Amino acid sequence: MSRSGDLISPQTRHVALFPSAGMGHLIPFLRFGALLLRRTNCRVTLITVNPTVSLAESQHTSQFLSAYPQVTPLQLNLIPVDPATVNSDDPFWLRFEAVRRSAHLLGPLLSSASPPLSALVHDVSLISPVIPIAESLSLHSYVLFPASARMLSFVSYFSTFAAAGFGSANSDPLLRIPGISPIPRSSIPPPLLDPNSLFSRILMEDSPNLSRLNGILINSFEGLETEALEAINGGKVTKGSPPLFAVGPFPPFEFEKAEWSTPLNWLDQQPEGSVVYVSFGSRTALSRDQITEVGEGLVKSGCRFFWVVKDKKVDKEEDGGLNDVVGGELMEKMRGRGLVVKQWVDQSEVLSHRAVGGFVSHCGWNSVGEAALYGVRILAWPQNGDQKINAEVVRASGLGIWVESWGWRSGGGGDDRTVVVKGDEIGERVRELMGGESLRLQAAKIGDVARKASEVGGTRENALERFIGELLETK
Ligand code: UDP
Ligand code: UDP
Repeated sequence: MSRSGDLISPQTRHVALFPSAGMGHLIPFLRFGALLLRRTNCRVTLITVNPTVSLAESQHTSQFLSAYPQVTPLQLNLIPVDPATVNSDDPFWLRFEAVRRSAHLLGPLLSSASPPLSALVHDVSLISPVIPIAESLSLHSYVLFPASARMLSFVSYFSTFAAAGFGSANSDPLLRIPGISPIPRSSIPPPLLDPNSLFSRILMEDSPNLSRLNGILINSFEGLETEALEAINGGKVTKGSPPLFAVGPFPPFEFEKAEWSTPLNWLDQQPEGSVVYVSFGSRTALSRDQITEVGEGLVKSGCRFFWVVKDKKVDKEEDGGLNDVVGGELMEKMRGRGLVVKQWVDQSEVLSHRAVGGFVSHCGWNSVGEAALYGVRILAWPQNGDQKINAEVVRASGLGIWVESWGWRSGGGGDDRTVVVKGDEIGERVRELMGGESLRLQAAKIGDVARKASEVGGTRENALERFIGELLETK
């Protein structure tokens, strides 16, 4: 009998999900969990930490748990980490490290689960600390990779690169991974060019341990990432890499609907495909200068726009109103041309709205997946981390365009092209995005492939079946 008293069939498998910090990491776990819960033979436990870095994380977690009362939450109490011992001042990265250092507390939590667990699906940043625990409990261990398959090929190959000294300025400007079109050195997440950064140290430790996993789950699909998925599945990238399950595209679920509403009324009144949506995800704040240029650029583009302004990396710290951040004069200029908000919006609702035709995106992988699912073309403007590698996928698949010369986020460090991009140029590129008929058609085609992948008998469902089939072979 289970906690709730119902009979557990011998065919039921219990999976624990263990995400790490940030919405970009949490959302795929909750969506994957919701996909598993659609099946009658899956039981889910969600490992949570408290407090979360952002408000959005705690809100989404509680919405998920209320929508699925059958899910067991297990709280991991984090051991405090002295920031001076972590080579990063990013609150999300500090949290990654804190979760990592507390992972040994997981053993007793997992062994107390009822019915007993079959598998642990965890964040990519937890590989080395978690594998020994899973092994000691005879659990299968899977990573739910939060980024592109192209990024996964890079992560798999990382220790080989590092050994070859790719970080040095005079090394080959192109990283050559078997089966993958070369990755320019300028696309590497800036912290990975510094061997002492927290990100580098984690990857150095974790990359060689990928082969100890039972598998990797990824929110991607053939048609968006044909090259990388084929190369990884074909064993070209690294020998002995674990099986890859392309369980994307993840759809949004009802539990994600926020209590406060996304202002869709304005969108409802706009012509089909006429609006460009502008958002840089859940944890990227542009500099004030760059915010001004984005506003000027949107006005100059002459296109209708829906712009989500973000002033602080962590939502809890947002204080000023739109007038403080964007400025009264610019707000006045934008009046009647578009909608500007400074709040969490339901991005899936926006991207699936008939009025939205284009997306200026930082290319966080969840955002790319959502645009692909709805066939919305992207103007890629990567800001940090894996986003340039994702922008390469956007460009190569035909889902969008990328102006490479815009460089990384202004003030973000990491390369020398951190200039503020001017409004004139932004306006011109937005016009190009919204005016491009072949781009519109290609993005729509990717949307069709994404929907087919999601249907019964489609690649997503097949990959999920394969994953569950493996679990059924466990005890
Ligand atoms: N998101 C949202 N509303 C917002 C900002 C972000 O729904 O106002 C969602 C977005 O749809 C995506 C996730 O938050 O699912 C952000 O993840 P992504 O990988 O795109 O970027 P990150 O925020 O990690 O940089
Ligand atoms: N990543 C990884 N191992 C880690 C942390 C991150 O492989 O310990 C990968 C993962 O694909 C992640 C990407 O590196 O999405 C870029 O990291 P970023 O700095 O952008 O942080 P994120 O926004 O993903 O949290």
